[in-house]
Amino acid sequence: MTDNFLEPQSLGVPCPRCQKELQLKKGRFGLFVGCSGYPDCDYMTSADFDPGTDVSCPECGTGKLVQKTSRFGHSFYACDHFPDCKFSVPLPPVAESCPDCAYPILLRKKTTAGERYICGNSECDYKSKIR
Ligand SMILES: [Zn+2]
Ligand SMILES: [Zn+2]
Ligand SMILES: [Zn+2]
Repeated sequence: MTDNFLEPQSLGVPCPRCQKELQLKKGRFGLFVGCSGYPDCDYMTSADFDPGTDVSCPECGTGKLVQKTSRFGHSFYACDHFPDCKFSVPLPPVAESCPDCAYPILLRKKTTAGERYICGNSECDYKSKIR
């Protein structure tokens, strides 16, 4: 057991507010993700934030989709160019294009039978087989 975890860990993800790097930090209330620009920038989010979907935003093409938690505690995935780009999806995205409509992302949907991918385009009803 080392105390390394007390050192802020770089996440390699830019702060959505100021573009400095985000870090995993330990505070009085446990782990959280905060901006390395603190105290100039007090951006923070919960430690279970998933920085790395590495899925490009289908709307603006330049942003990445990142996990967020809504005020009501639901997680969703939104473009990191928010508020310039307001794209968001309710399920974890995957960088695979839809075989039916060529939409650039699919969404991972858990069902009682297993996991399947559905099209990220709400007008398309493509569903993969259970994987
Ligand atoms: Zn910041
Ligand atoms: Zn976007
Ligand atoms: Zn589709």
